[in-house]
Amino acid sequence: MINIYGAGISGSYLGCLLEKFGYEYRISDKNSIYKSKCAYGFMYNETKSLLNIIGFNISKYLEVKIKYVNINGIKMKVNNLCILDKNKLVNDMRNELKFGKFDNPSFSVDSTGTNRSIIKNNEDVSYSYTKQEKIKNSYGKEIFIYANKFGYSWYFPINNEYAHIGSGSYRKDKVDELLNGLKSTYDINYDIICKCKKKMISTPFNKLRYIDYNKKIICVGESGGFVSIFGEGNTTGMRSSLLLYRSIRNSETFEEICNKYMKNVNEEFSWIIDGYKFFDSLRKSSTKSFYYIPRLFEKNRCGLEVNIGIIRSLLKKIIW
Ligand SMILES: Cc1cc2nc3c(=O)[nH]c(=O)nc-3n(C[C@H](O)[C@H](O)[C@H](O)COP(=O)(O)OP(=O)(O)OC[C@H]3O[C@@H](n4cnc5c(N)ncnc54)[C@H](O)[C@@H]3O)c2cc1C
Repeated sequence: MINIYGAGISGSYLGCLLEKFGYEYRISDKNSIYKSKCAYGFMYNETKSLLNIIGFNISKYLEVKIKYVNINGIKMKVNNLCILDKNKLVNDMRNELKFGKFDNPSFSVDSTGTNRSIIKNNEDVSYSYTKQEKIKNSYGKEIFIYANKFGYSWYFPINNEYAHIGSGSYRKDKVDELLNGLKSTYDINYDIICKCKKKMISTPFNKLRYIDYNKKIICVGESGGFVSIFGEGNTTGMRSSLLLYRSIRNSETFEEICNKYMKNVNEEFSWIIDGYKFFDSLRKSSTKSFYYIPRLFEKNRCGLEVNIGIIRSLLKKIIW
């Protein structure tokens, strides 16, 4: 008997896996409807196969398949990045689930995202600060990014009519500067529909307490630090839920589940740790950052069509 707290993308996906394969679980959320104003970017191929496992079809949620990404004015083709209607997807997943709570669960899952409401915060957690605007304007299937060593700002289409611009940095005082960098690098005209600010966990799972053995709590998704340095938390969140599900399926005891889960996430998400190491060395302007570059591009999750010349120009523009 498992209690899941938080029915966002990660918790709902875990719920769907447990539902489909006949496990006893209950899920709860502080909000009856899932409503996210942002974060609609997904890795197409991986999300497609993750959704297939629970019997969902990605095409029902697909808004835009991104064709180009521009970083600091350099335009590159991309083939594995898409925008989904995330609110529809999460609410459809929720419709499949049993809501409620068991009185004496075998263990609980914290999928409350940034809040880490169940496992509770500890001193290790650090955050990125973001600011976003939904705008009425769309430049089609392109993403525009302005990056420097403090973070990055973005323009993402949401659909044919609307787009989303924003910026995120580990330093609150750099958020506006990054947003201005975007606006001055690209000539983007728009009317603002709404604005908001959010925090996002920017401590990777290997430096975060994502299992509490005494209270029998396991985290998936953002609450467990399964978010990349670029702020990718959707596909990684679902993937962490799949890894937990596989650990549950093959184990008899809570300890066994935890050991398998730790092993699985360490194997699967070493690229997340490499990303943070890269960013740390970049912040310190250390030449060590070069060591991580091939490993980052080896993963190339979004399918950027890059070559050595482009990487060199990009680094020049971002670091110097
Ligand atoms: C500005 C911004 C842009 C982003 N863009 C992207 C993007 O394009 N692509 C991408 O992959 N990632 C993006 N991310 C990251 C991504 O949004 C998150 O990492 C991802 O949503 C995490 O999923 P989750 O299920 O772990 O948490 P969430 O999706 O945040 O879900 C948490 C759920 O828990 C519920 N909850 C919270 N507290 C409690 C409580 N005490 N009790 C019960 N329920 C509770 C909430 O209501 C919510 O339903 C972005 C983040 C930000 C801030």
